[in-house]
Amino acid sequence: MSNIEQTLSIIKPDAVERNLQEEIKKKFIENGFIIKKEKKIQISKAEAEEFYKVHETKPFYEELCNYLSSGPIVVMIIEKVNAVLENRKLMGATDPLKAEDGTIRKIYGISIDKNSVHGSDSVDNAKIEIEFFFKSWEQFFAKLLDKVYFLQSKFFSRGFWVCLFLKFEFFFVLLFYQSQINYF
Ligand code: UDP
Ligand code: MG
Repeated sequence: MSNIEQTLSIIKPDAVERNLQEEIKKKFIENGFIIKKEKKIQISKAEAEEFYKVHETKPFYEELCNYLSSGPIVVMIIEKVNAVLENRKLMGATDPLKAEDGTIRKIYGISIDKNSVHGSDSVDNAKIEIEFFFKSWEQFFAKLLDKVYFLQSKFFSRGFWVCLFLKFEFFFVLLFYQSQINYF
C-alpha cells in the first residue's frame, strides 16, 4: 500500500544567501518529491526559538535561533511516498562532513550549523512543523480567495456575457426593441 506523506523542508539562510534554492529544489524534484507549497520568508528570533523549542536545553540553541532568523529562508511542503524518511535520507547527516556522498548536506552544507536544509524528523513533527509555517486557517482563506477570484474572472469574462445573452436571448431582444420604440 502506498504511503504518501508530506513533510516540511527548509532551505536555510546559508543556502538562500548563496542562491542555491533552485538547485536544491531540483534535487527534491529529481528524487521524486512534489513541492506542494513554498514561500520565501524571514522569521524573527522569537519564531525561530519557538520552532526549535525541542533544542532549548542544547548548547547550540541560541546560535541556532540567531542563525535561522538571520536571513531569508525557503519553507516548503514536500510530498512523496514515505516523505519524512526519504527526505532525511536525501538531506544526509546533520554534520556535512559525516553526510553520505550525493546528499544535499554533503554537496551544499558548509558546517554542522550551516548545513543548508532542515527536514522534519517524524510524521507527527512534520504535521506540527507544516502547521507552524502554513497555518490551516491561512490555507482556508487562501483557497476561498482563489475561488472568489475564479468566479470574478468568470463573471467579467466575455464568455459569461455570451452565455447570459444566449440564455436570455428573448429578454435582450425585447429590451432592445423596447428601447427603440421609446426612442422614436
Ligand atoms: N546544530 C548545531 N550544532 C550541533 C547540532 C545541531 O548547530 O552540534 C544545528 C544544525 O543546524 C541542525 C539543527 O541544529 O540542523 C537541529 O539539530 P538536529 O539535531 O535536530 O539536526 P537535524 O534534524 O537538522 O539533522
Ligand atoms: Mg532535527
